[in-house]
Amino acid sequence: MPTTMPLPIEGGCRCGQVRFRITGAPLMTMACHCTGCQRMTASAYSLSVMVPADGFEVIAGETVAGGLREPPMHRFCAHCMSWMFTEPPGAAWLVNVRATLLDDASWFTPWMETYTTEALPWAKTPAVKSFEKFPEMDQWQGLVAEHQAQ
Ligand SMILES: [Zn+2]
Ligand SMILES: [Zn+2]
Repeated sequence: MPTTMPLPIEGGCRCGQVRFRITGAPLMTMACHCTGCQRMTASAYSLSVMVPADGFEVIAGETVAGGLREPPMHRFCAHCMSWMFTEPPGAAWLVNVRATLLDDASWFTPWMETYTTEALPWAKTPAVKSFEKFPEMDQWQGLVAEHQAQ
């Protein structure tokens, strides 16, 4: 089983109307335990693959804003309302794609996890880096470099 993301790779929402393609190597793989992600996924945590924005493209269908509207950052399928990706405010060069929307997510493992302080007591992941909240902005470059070196 591959442990790195094959490129290009495609994915889509539950109904299949929105499709996307990723051509950029992932910068990070993550699980977020925050209560916001718990609510938006209706599950224990969100799973994300962070990719460069210029290596991500919606190739079919239409997305709409959902989740947090101020500032707008969470994109959903306009038809089935699947949470698809996040455009983090102030970081226009990257997109966080929900990993389980990929046609093949078997390669995916979260390398880092965030908001462990809000995790459900039983919710464990194999992440090698854990953060009680979110890493500071100035930590990200080092984290991405460390992840890519592995
Ligand atoms: Zn859909
Ligand atoms: Zn979260």
